[in-house]
Amino acid sequence: MQGYYHSIEHFGTVDGRGIRYVLFLSGCQLRCRFCHNPDTWQKGCKVISTEKVLSDLLHYRHFYDGSKGGITVSGGEPLLQSQFVAELFAACQKHTIHTTIDTAGYYDKQNITDILPYTNAALFSIKAVNPEKHRWLAGFDNEQILSNLKYLTEHIPVTLRYVVLPGITTTNEDIVALANLIHSLPAPITVELLPYHSLGRQKWQALQMKYSLDDVPDATAQDVASVATLLRAEGITNLI
Ligand code: SF4
Repeated sequence: MQGYYHSIEHFGTVDGRGIRYVLFLSGCQLRCRFCHNPDTWQKGCKVISTEKVLSDLLHYRHFYDGSKGGITVSGGEPLLQSQFVAELFAACQKHTIHTTIDTAGYYDKQNITDILPYTNAALFSIKAVNPEKHRWLAGFDNEQILSNLKYLTEHIPVTLRYVVLPGITTTNEDIVALANLIHSLPAPITVELLPYHSLGRQKWQALQMKYSLDDVPDATAQDVASVATLLRAEGITNLI
């Protein structure tokens, strides 16, 4: 089977445990204002087969095995191509390669069902818990996303990723809502705080799109620490 993709990183160290082969698929329905890969929104014309990905991955597997790494499929939104991911992950698991999906959760629940038997872990990014703020930040409300987060958490280990956007996702209300969401999930999860940075702005300009967060500063280590402190005060301790 073939999938639409944007790029491949052979030695990824920030998208899951260990050193990872990271395949960035193309296509995304969300329109996050802080997206640093808007060039992945459209599917484009680059395609790759599951066989080609697997043979490429196996060529480097000693790096992944030695670090307890594996493969991460990211995007864009990889689960818009869930059949492709399912076939790829099934092949990887036959070779005992650890599989992680990096998703933002905006699709039908069936897309998750497709990949669950072959997926070891998930990175799940939530842009905001408040639906109106989410709509402003990502273009759509988060009802389906929250439902998919709950469903995924019921089945595999999830790391919840939250972008620290100074003054926008960092208010007390935002963090209390995030903590309440985490407490409401059916299984414990890990939380990863990601500092907002504006490095993607050049891509927006290159695509002749207006970047709307020019007035928002990059998040500092102190901004991230402050959010972590608020989360811990709300009983969320499994932070990375
Ligand atoms: S979900 Fe990811 S790829 Fe899609 S718009 Fe948001 S940040 Fe960009």
